[in-house]
Amino acid sequence: MNDLRTLIAVASARLAGEDARSEAEILLAHVLERTRAWLFAWPEHVPNAAQAAAFERLVEARAGGKPIAYLLGRRAFWSFDLALTPAVLIPRPETELLVGLALERLPRDVACTVADLGTGSGAIALALAHERPLARVRATDRSADAIAVAQANAQRLGLANVEFACGDWCEALGGMRFEVIVSNPPYIASEDPHLSRGDLRHEPLSALASGEDGLDAIRTIVATAPSHLLPGGWLLLEHGWEQAPQVRELFVRNGGRDAASARDLAGHERVTFARF
Ligand code: GLN
Repeated sequence: MNDLRTLIAVASARLAGEDARSEAEILLAHVLERTRAWLFAWPEHVPNAAQAAAFERLVEARAGGKPIAYLLGRRAFWSFDLALTPAVLIPRPETELLVGLALERLPRDVACTVADLGTGSGAIALALAHERPLARVRATDRSADAIAVAQANAQRLGLANVEFACGDWCEALGGMRFEVIVSNPPYIASEDPHLSRGDLRHEPLSALASGEDGLDAIRTIVATAPSHLLPGGWLLLEHGWEQAPQVRELFVRNGGRDAASARDLAGHERVTFARF
């Protein structure tokens, strides 16, 4: 039977790539339900046969390209861990920019309403609900499987001020109006070669790609969301790093005022917003 040091060395060689060692450690810590620091403290510990077999299966799946987030069934976002399945996009750190910009527009001490279109794992909606306990958050998704994942996350995090509805973009809003509407829609061009590389190969295509120029979903949302905003309400959308000028123009053409974009930590214009 192999000890931890040996298991990590063998798995790192199998996974190759610059992150191989840390990925091997993350997977082993997950199987043992310990921290990575614990692995370093007990290099001579020998896991039982079931644990060794479970680790072997995870390393095999990772070597085949499965994203770490799906193998662990979770990913950190904002201040919590979200449960994930392959039915939802893996939350990205740049989406925290969208959360921050929405929070600037949601009052802390009075009730308000906000909608998150295409919520996926619930990342954005749950972060907003957590930071604004007085807000009522409505999270929508076309995928019933995604809604189930998001709902389970809300329940586990004890967030009761989020409601979920299944439907395409604004269709799931009925006649409701909101102070703020946010979305991280699919925005990659359908022929973009990135779609067939890395983690993206394993994520739902409907959460990533949106027509020839990647802007189909954004065009639909900008055309339909303003009629679901209260007067002066804000629409905020995440988009691709080169799409900001086109998205601002769409906002303005649909009646948006004070349209502007904000940069993510990589310096890319990543979120565009306007008031309607
Ligand atoms: N930001 C993601 C990526 O480029 C795409 C997510 C999306 O389309 N909303 O991998």
